[in-house]
Amino acid sequence: MTAITGPVRVRFAPSPTGYLHIGGVRTALFNWLFARHYGGQFILRIEDTDEKRLVADAADDISASLRWVGINWDEGPDVGGPHGPYVQSQRQELGLYQQHSDQLLEAGLAYMSFTTEEELAEMRTATEARGIKSFRFRGPERDWSLAQQRETAASGKPYTIRLKMPLEGETRFNDLVRGGSEIVVQHDQLQDIVLIKKTGMPVYHFAHLVDDHLMGITHVLRAEEWVPSTPYHVLLYHAFGWQAPVFAHLPVILRQDGKGKLSKRKDDVATNRFWERGYLPEALFNYLALQGWSYDDKTEIMSSSEIVERFSIERVQASGARWNPDKLRDMNGIYIRKLSMEALAQQVQPFMSAAGLIGNPPSAAEQGYLLRLVPLVHERLEELSQAPELLDFFFQDVRPGPDGYDPALLIPKKHDATQTANLLRAAHGALNIVEDWQAANLEAAMRDLSERLQAKPSPLFGAVRVAVSGRSVAPPLFDMLAALGRERTLSRLSLAAGALG
Ligand code: GLU
Repeated sequence: MTAITGPVRVRFAPSPTGYLHIGGVRTALFNWLFARHYGGQFILRIEDTDEKRLVADAADDISASLRWVGINWDEGPDVGGPHGPYVQSQRQELGLYQQHSDQLLEAGLAYMSFTTEEELAEMRTATEARGIKSFRFRGPERDWSLAQQRETAASGKPYTIRLKMPLEGETRFNDLVRGGSEIVVQHDQLQDIVLIKKTGMPVYHFAHLVDDHLMGITHVLRAEEWVPSTPYHVLLYHAFGWQAPVFAHLPVILRQDGKGKLSKRKDDVATNRFWERGYLPEALFNYLALQGWSYDDKTEIMSSSEIVERFSIERVQASGARWNPDKLRDMNGIYIRKLSMEALAQQVQPFMSAAGLIGNPPSAAEQGYLLRLVPLVHERLEELSQAPELLDFFFQDVRPGPDGYDPALLIPKKHDATQTANLLRAAHGALNIVEDWQAANLEAAMRDLSERLQAKPSPLFGAVRVAVSGRSVAPPLFDMLAALGRERTLSRLSLAAGALG
């Protein structure tokens, strides 16, 4: 294994073809960790040369998603840097790619190909008809002189520029993730790939490579799907006479059931969805770091600085990582529990406002009330977006009947409606005389009542719980009553008793 000696330069190079998928954030994160751990720079580069697939605002979504998770870059579109611009369409306008394709044309290592789509399709069919499964294109213009190519181009015929692949021999490269193991590809398995399209736009294979070279990238950490293209890239580096960077292909992220890759189409994996559902960026950061890397066999909860310190490329696995939304949710719960009550109230506020339970922005009174309520759910929340449904009854009317909860819910087992109504009236009486409305005093009054009535606490408390919250599962009873306040509690008890006759 090659020892890594700094300073390293790595990049995340997304194509703005849609929202940022969580797998993309994992790739960015591993690059970022690599730069921060080994010492060096992390660069963001936008690869927008595929005009047909561009999506407006996708680049902004990518930047915002990365920043939200806690990934910053040393050089990039908005922060600038010595190797800018960091957007490929802008680099194309500067003529950077053309300059480099000209260099290959002049050296006879690339050629202009005038073959049309139709001709290409015919060649493919003819090859397949001969029983050869994979068609590998080698253009007839390979053998033309550059003058002849230029003359044909001057006549107005559209052309692509293709790399002239060697016909014999083999290419080898090492992958840092696969334990430095060597990947060998026979040249007769390769074809003359397009470098520049008819529109003059470079394709990914060409543009990213020219940029990686010009930007001084030392290590390429990217998705495993690029392994089959890497021999082309290695040959292209050879054609330019440039030193290739070290490659490290990151493991795919598999769906929870292990069947296939996590998919943009089938899985809920847009990064901003995690924000919407109330994931804390620290939790997502921690979870994503473990998608293909581990510190040891047991440690899971680690802060970002601990992960930076402990990260090593040797412990990035080659086999697929398994996406586990349940585990991510648990981890989010763990991070929620680390928050102070003030921080939790602040985090929960946008969800409460969006649900219409409090204003946006909330009033000072609403903020105070929320701060009083969050301790009741601190232990139970796994996604911040659960807060409105757990807390709504503190803000809304709670009444039995057609517009509210089912009065039958009030009636404990082995009780009837009249008995329950009596219990609720007795609870009303006992609570009404509590002077200092504190959880401990409320509890004392209710326990005292249960003794006086010789009624078991659990049905009594259960009926009160339903009467004030409209549900049988709710936060701890006396804390809940304390937070709800005297008036609301007593009027809900009356309403409930009234509904039962
Ligand atoms: N633009 C490519 C992508 O989005 C980058 C791949 C690479 O990192 O080389 O997949």
